[in-house]
Amino acid sequence: VFSEVPQAAPVAVFKLTQDFTNDQSPQKVNLGVGAYRTDEGKPWILPVVKKVEKLIVQDDSLNHEYLPILGLPEFRSSASKIALGDDSPAIHENRVGAVQCLGGTGALKMGAEFLRRFYNGNNNTKTPVYVSAPTWENHNAVFANAGFEDVRPYKYWDAEKRGLDLAGFLGDLESCPERSIFVLHACAHNPTGTDPTQEQWKQIAEVMMRRKLFVFFDSAYQGFASGSLEKDAWAVRYFSFSKNFGLYNERVANSSQMEKIVRTTWSNPPSQGARIVAVTLNSPELFAEWKDNVKTMADRVLLMRAQLKAKLQALGTPGTWDHITEQIGMFSFTGLNPKQVEYMVNEKHVYLMASGRINMCGLTTKNIDHVAQSIHEAVTK
Ligand code: PLP
Repeated sequence: VFSEVPQAAPVAVFKLTQDFTNDQSPQKVNLGVGAYRTDEGKPWILPVVKKVEKLIVQDDSLNHEYLPILGLPEFRSSASKIALGDDSPAIHENRVGAVQCLGGTGALKMGAEFLRRFYNGNNNTKTPVYVSAPTWENHNAVFANAGFEDVRPYKYWDAEKRGLDLAGFLGDLESCPERSIFVLHACAHNPTGTDPTQEQWKQIAEVMMRRKLFVFFDSAYQGFASGSLEKDAWAVRYFSFSKNFGLYNERVANSSQMEKIVRTTWSNPPSQGARIVAVTLNSPELFAEWKDNVKTMADRVLLMRAQLKAKLQALGTPGTWDHITEQIGMFSFTGLNPKQVEYMVNEKHVYLMASGRINMCGLTTKNIDHVAQSIHEAVTK
């Protein structure tokens, strides 16, 4: 009965990791998958997380019973405060709803399902959903799989000037159908590492409000971009001040419908991660320690950006490399074209996405010379 199942295309970023793992070269470097690595190239369990895990294991009052469908209440409230700020009018006016989801992808799925079911009418599959061009590739598929038939790109990246195409972006906001849904990256845009400035966000907000567009923020990297939770949440908080974005009361009906969606998707979420977060965020000392850990990661990325740019400039690699330090977050959109990327992978054992995106955390003080030299050769050969 399964003989007709067609082969699905591999997911690019996982295929890249597989190719990297199979590569026997001692020089190999993985700049593909978006995960933090230490200067030794190793995954890092945050020290505060290790500490809190031990506290949880020793706490005899905890058990493995089901959590509520919408998740651990202390997690939901502390996560809302991290995103919106302690003094958020939206929280005080009871306009905020929170669901503990399975990762960022689960959150996108819940949001997309809810919107398809209830935004602009019941089972609304026709509302256009706009995602940035380019975007994290899964955005398209998550909204399409939730039943939206019209997922479109909006202008975002100007390849020529290696920066934000603000005029194009604003133009799409002006010309799209009213009440369209726009998926925005809260900070550290994936894959370009290029965010609007605060002034530009204000312009974007003005058009979105005037044209009654629906703002859907995907916030995957708060704190990691600049090292400051406040700075990275600026756009989300600016938008959340406005009641005109349809963030009215967190109506009981909304929660009840969210529960129904969760119930038929994962029924109720796992507890361990939520407990770690809730314990950390609800203790001033642990919270301070966590912020410090996050800053350690953000600072390492900033250092790698500065070093990579300096090395390319020292090599005299043609082109400008300012965008490497101007972009923020985990990723840099290098501007390397697919042929140059192919050369890097096949000849230099440096693995990066075909789009030219690199994970800055894959760089270390030990491999950065090889990476810079490889970029230099790819550009000049
Ligand atoms: N949204 C963006 C912009 C991302 O970059 C990512 C991760 O790559 C996600 C969502 C998904 O997050 P998670 O891996 O927690 O599902």
